[in-house]
Amino acid sequence: MEKSTNFIEDIINNDLESGKHSEIITRFPPEPNGYLHIGHAKSLCINFGMKEKYHGKCNLRYDDTNPAKEDVEYVDSIKKDIEWLGFKWDEELYASDYFDRMYECAILLIKKGLAFVCDMTGDEIRENRGTLTTPGKNSPYRDRSIDENLDLFQRMKEGEFADGSKVLRAKIDMASPNINMRDPIIYRILRETHHRTGDKWCIYPMYDFAHPLEDAFEGITHSICTLEFEDHRPLYDWVKINCGFDPGPRQIEFARLNMNRTIMSKRYLKKLVDTGFVDGWSDPRMPTLSGMRERGYPAEAIRDFCERVGVAKANSEVNTAMLEFCVRENLNANADRAMVVKDPIKMIIEGVDEEVYEVENNPNAEDKQYHKVTFSNQVFIERDDFMIDPPPKYKRLVVGGSVRLRNSYIVQYKSHVCDSNGNVESVTVQIIPDSKSGGVNAGMKVKGVIQWVNAKDYVSCVLHEYDYLLMDGDGDFNDRLNPNSHIVFENAVAESSLKNAKPYDRFQFMRIGYYSAKGNYGKDGKYEFNRIVSLKDSFNINK
Ligand code: ATP
Ligand code: MG
Repeated sequence: MEKSTNFIEDIINNDLESGKHSEIITRFPPEPNGYLHIGHAKSLCINFGMKEKYHGKCNLRYDDTNPAKEDVEYVDSIKKDIEWLGFKWDEELYASDYFDRMYECAILLIKKGLAFVCDMTGDEIRENRGTLTTPGKNSPYRDRSIDENLDLFQRMKEGEFADGSKVLRAKIDMASPNINMRDPIIYRILRETHHRTGDKWCIYPMYDFAHPLEDAFEGITHSICTLEFEDHRPLYDWVKINCGFDPGPRQIEFARLNMNRTIMSKRYLKKLVDTGFVDGWSDPRMPTLSGMRERGYPAEAIRDFCERVGVAKANSEVNTAMLEFCVRENLNANADRAMVVKDPIKMIIEGVDEEVYEVENNPNAEDKQYHKVTFSNQVFIERDDFMIDPPPKYKRLVVGGSVRLRNSYIVQYKSHVCDSNGNVESVTVQIIPDSKSGGVNAGMKVKGVIQWVNAKDYVSCVLHEYDYLLMDGDGDFNDRLNPNSHIVFENAVAESSLKNAKPYDRFQFMRIGYYSAKGNYGKDGKYEFNRIVSLKDSFNINK
C-alpha cells in the first residue's frame, strides 16, 4: 500500500522539485537537561525518518546553550536512547561549539545597527514589553551608538558587569503585533560553569538567537520543531537573514505528542526523580525511553507507535493504550511463551509419574522452535484457578469438576486441604488417562485450561507489575500521582527453562501478561521480571 505523505513531506517534496535543495538535512536538537521521553521519540522518528526517506542527513545536536541545567549524564543517556531506537546520526555536534561564531554574529548585528546593549533589569524589560493589545515602549538605551554598543558588548564578554545588569537585545519593533519581535534579548550575562566550555564564557546566547544560527551553520534544510515555536518563526527568520543566511533553513512546526495518564515534560519528570517518587530516570514506570527499555518495551514497537500517531498540525492527546497496543502486537509476534504461576497453591496429581514435554516457544513464529517442560505428580497452580465457592460462569477447577493442564492432561478433582484460616493449601486431583493432546480422551469436554509449574523443577521468581504514574482526571500532576503504581509478587514460580533467560529477554507468561527479565536477571540467584503490558486491553485501534 502506498502511504500518503504528511505535510512535512509535502514541503520537502516541493523543495526538491523546485530545486531549492538537492539534499535534505535535518537535526535532532535535545537540550541535555534530562532523559529523552516518548515525546522525543516522536521528534526522532520525524527527523531521522526524513533522513531515511530522502537519503539525506540528520545531525544529533546538543542544544547546550543554557549551562545551569545541563549535565554529561544526560548527554550520554541521550545517545544511548537514540541508538537503542535504531537511529544513526551523521554528526554529533554541540551548540556550545558555536559560541565564538554566535558572538561574531552578534557583533555583526550591532555593526548593522540591529542590536543594542540594554541596562534595564529583567523586570523593567518585561514591564515595557506591552501586551497582546498594546505596543511596548522603546528602551531608553535603544539609541546607543554602534561604537558604544560594540564596546559594552565586548566588556560584557570580558566579565566587567554583574550577572543580569546588562543584556544584548535585537533592535526590531516594539510595536510588532508579535511580542517575540519586540526587541528580544539575544545575550545575557551568566556566571555559570558550562559542562563543555567551563568558565570560558560569562555571556550566553538566548535560544531564539542561537537556534537559527546553529541550524544555518550546519546547513540544515528543514528545522522541524514543535508548535509552541510557531510564533517564534518570524524571529527565527529575522536572525538567520540578518546574520547573512538567506534563504537558510526553514522552520516547520508540528504538534507535540501528549499522552494521557503520564507526564511529558523533563521538568516534571526530574521532579519525580528528585523527590524519589520513582527510582531514577530509568524506572520502568517512567515515560522515558530508558524507562521503557528497562520495562521491556521493544524499540520497534515505539517506532511503530510514532508512525501510527502520524504528524499533525494541531495538539491533541493520544491514548496511552495505543502505545500498549503496539507493544502487545509486537510481543504477540515475537515473545516466547512460558508458564509461570503468580500466586501458587500445590496440586497433587494421582496417576502420573515424571514426564517431559516438547512445547512450542511461540505459536506465531515462522520457524518453529521448541523447549522442554518437565511435569510430575506435584505442580503449582494459581490460587484462583481452584475455587470452593466459584462465582457464576467460573471456568476453572471446582469441587467435583475437571480442568485441563496446558500441554498436559485433563485432571479430575478428588479433594482439597485448607489452612486454619480457610485458605486452600493444596488440591488433589486424578488424571484422566489418555487425555493429552492426541489421546483417545483428549476430546473430553472441559471448560478451562490452566497453566502450571512443576513443583519438583522450577525457579522462584519475583514479578513486578506497573500501573500508570497518574490517576485518571485533569487536575494538577502533583495531586494525581498514583500511589499504587508498583506492585510486587514475591512468591511467583516459573518453569525451570526460565533459568536460562538473559536480562531483557521477553516472554508471554501464559494467562498472566508479557514480561521482561530485569537488567540484573540471575544475579545473586535472584530472578526478577517486569510486567511490560497486560495480555489484553479494550483499546480498539480502528475506533
Ligand atoms: P521538555 O518540555 O520535555 O523539556 P523540550 O522541548 O524542552 O521538552 P528538548 O530537549 O528541547 O526538550 O527537545 C528536543 C526536541 O524534541 C525538540 O525539537 C522538541 O521540539 C522535541 N520534543 C520535545 N518534546 C516533544 C513532544 N512531546 N512531542 C514531540 N516532540 C517533542
Ligand atoms: Mg527545550
